[in-house]
Amino acid sequence: MKKVLVLEDETNIRSFVVINLKRAGYEAIEAGTGEEALEQLKKNPDVSVALLDIMLPDMDGFEVCRRIRGSNSRIGIIMLTARTQEMDKVTGLMTGADDYVTKPFSPAELTARIDALCRRAGGGETPADSGEISQPPFLLNTRNRTLEKNGQRVKLTQVEYSIVKLFMDNAGKALSREEILDAVWGKDYFGELKIVDVNIRRLRIKIEDDPTNPSYITTVWGYGYKWGF
Ligand code: CA
Repeated sequence: MKKVLVLEDETNIRSFVVINLKRAGYEAIEAGTGEEALEQLKKNPDVSVALLDIMLPDMDGFEVCRRIRGSNSRIGIIMLTARTQEMDKVTGLMTGADDYVTKPFSPAELTARIDALCRRAGGGETPADSGEISQPPFLLNTRNRTLEKNGQRVKLTQVEYSIVKLFMDNAGKALSREEILDAVWGKDYFGELKIVDVNIRRLRIKIEDDPTNPSYITTVWGYGYKWGF
């Protein structure tokens, strides 16, 4: 059974989420504070996805996210955001999360997001894979799901890895944001296209020489992005 960590200090919301996760076949691990969440993750290193509330009594959810990412790039992270928080503010602060849902969310929406991330985190590499895609200065290892730039390891989340893999498989071709969303998050995902931009922005910071003037991931205005050089 896949484990999901639920970090939420409001007991009503937490119980609601936990009940629905159990119904969907997940094992739920609960935490009411950031410290508790980090401790639970130490005890349960096999957690597939963490749901992180932002407003918490001891630290904010972004800080929890940053600390989790410091030692774990495989886990899927979904931020639980409030409607009143402006998206730009949220995206600007997104420190390694893969996705977000806005409260109030439906159980179906939440489990669809978790399912999508689990598929990603579960790997699903084809064994017949050659194991490496080399497009200097980049080297993608599809067995370990790692990326190197000029021989230096670039730390990627699973979603970021999937995006780079998609780009490398389609080098020089303009991909629409919808195509990227379908390929990386799955066709049954019903989130917003904006999540694509958020992840691209973060990827650029990690891999571009000058993220404000990107040369590897270029923007195709009004359409999407292109991996082209
Ligand atoms: Ca809260």
